Amino acid sequence: MDERARIPVSLPRDNPTTSYWQDPPDASVASLRTTPALPTSADIIIIGSGITGAAVAWNLLQNDTSTPEQTIVMLEARSACSGATGRNGGHTKAASYRTFPSYASDLGLAAAVQIARLELSNILAVQSFARDHAIACDLSACDTIDVIYDAAQWVQAQDSVAAMRAALGTDDPAARYTLLSPSEVRDRFYVHDGEFEGVGQKVYGGVVYHAGSLSAYKFGVGVLKLCLARGLNLQTHTPALSLSRDGEGTWMVETPRGAITAPRVVLATNGYTARLVPAFQGAIVPLRGQIAAHRPGANLRAKGPLPTTYSFIYEAGYEYMVSRRSTDSSAGGDIIMGGGLLRAPNEGLEEYGTTDDTSINPIISEYLHETTPRYFGPDWGEDDERGRVHAEWTGIMGYSPDGFPFVGEMSGPGLENEGLWVSGSFQGHGMVLCWVCAKALVEMMEGRDGEELETWFPEVFRVSEERMAKRFEGRRLHTSVVPNDAEGEEGQ
Ligand SMILES: Cc1cc2nc3c(=O)[nH]c(=O)nc-3n(C[C@H](O)[C@H](O)[C@H](O)COP(=O)(O)OP(=O)(O)OC[C@H]3O[C@@H](n4cnc5c(N)ncnc54)[C@H](O)[C@@H]3O)c2cc1C
Repeated sequence: MDERARIPVSLPRDNPTTSYWQDPPDASVASLRTTPALPTSADIIIIGSGITGAAVAWNLLQNDTSTPEQTIVMLEARSACSGATGRNGGHTKAASYRTFPSYASDLGLAAAVQIARLELSNILAVQSFARDHAIACDLSACDTIDVIYDAAQWVQAQDSVAAMRAALGTDDPAARYTLLSPSEVRDRFYVHDGEFEGVGQKVYGGVVYHAGSLSAYKFGVGVLKLCLARGLNLQTHTPALSLSRDGEGTWMVETPRGAITAPRVVLATNGYTARLVPAFQGAIVPLRGQIAAHRPGANLRAKGPLPTTYSFIYEAGYEYMVSRRSTDSSAGGDIIMGGGLLRAPNEGLEEYGTTDDTSINPIISEYLHETTPRYFGPDWGEDDERGRVHAEWTGIMGYSPDGFPFVGEMSGPGLENEGLWVSGSFQGHGMVLCWVCAKALVEMMEGRDGEELETWFPEVFRVSEERMAKRFEGRRLHTSVVPNDAEGEEGQ
């Protein structure tokens, strides 16, 4: 793992695999350059146009009371929103009960409670923002079920839910879980006991709670459009090649189209951040995730898009899945399935440290192809005559050794980069973190970094020299299942 974490991080690659969500790309924004020439200066440069860059821009523009208004230029290496946000699983699911015990023991109960509340608040904020601004992003605010096929994890799930209820109170929405027996799971959802590689796969129980799904690409593009209407200057196909600061504290960003300067720069570059700030090498490690879009089998198609999202949790990992809601009837009901990392050689080791989203891993692909008939059993039915899988793609996430994002100004002891801000490293969890982390970042940028922010924003998410110095040291991902000793998981 340490060797993989040392691979120099590249810029986003040309010609990535075609993400289902970006097919077709948004006609007006994908390749937009607001001005034909790159401006030579701005008040703020945001690098990266995923959900983080878009949310940072939105918060800055929304709060802008300066006259004349501050100029914000966003640089994007490829087309707009073409990174992880445009290539993910579309699942807005916190699963806070799975991390709560380890956070409580590592960080203390108050921090664990804060993180659980923050994750739910992110989901609800994205859902209401999409509704309030009429962003057509195939949004579904619905329940999810974690189907648990492992005895030990079922015991842990029950203990964790009990611990959360005790800590937060049963009325707290962030502690609202329904535990289901195996027969209740089988009666209420389209899942079955089954078999995998000759080993019985028995349902031990289920956990139901509020979650949702959306096209994060359409959401991100929708937010960008709102920002453009308020004066954002978006420059796609303009990679930031390097960053430097002069003696006056002005930052200069070099691009193939010339340089641009600003007193403040925001890194919204997630898995690619170490390319621009080498101090993040090993602290934000790229991890390639893979997804397959399945056409529903005949029996599942007859049921229409499923009312809930699902995760299938077994001893050594899990898959996560949403049922596509789409205005395009040919895509409605499609099953978007992510996971399978541990099926790759060396339990997915070679997916770390790579920024290659131009190809898929054939072993993960083969595994993901088989998941739908296995999990849905008789509820799957005959494959669609056009073939079961009609799109597969990869995308690059950013992973940190402690499993938390880096948010804040790169200043303070040991950092000394005043004016350089970052919000990145969202693991496979960005749809439940990025939106509120961007809000917190802008609070800090605008001088509101005080008691109010401390009430809801976890200290452990803040960038610091100490956190940046942490390394994986042989471990894989921060585990979100079992404290201390389990292998990690990607995506939601
Ligand atoms: C396959 C996959 C499945 C996932 N599934 C889920 C899920 O179901 N639920 C969930 O919550 N999360 C999921 N995630 C994680 C989630 O998508 C991310 O955490 C989130 O999208 C991060 O958003 P971001 O804006 O911070 O980064 P990104 O969306 O990656 O945006 C960063 C942008 O910066 C640009 N960039 C980078 N370097 C430069 C540079 N030097 N110059 C200019 N531009 C640059 C990139 O091109 C990119 O557009 C998944 C991720 C992947 C890859």
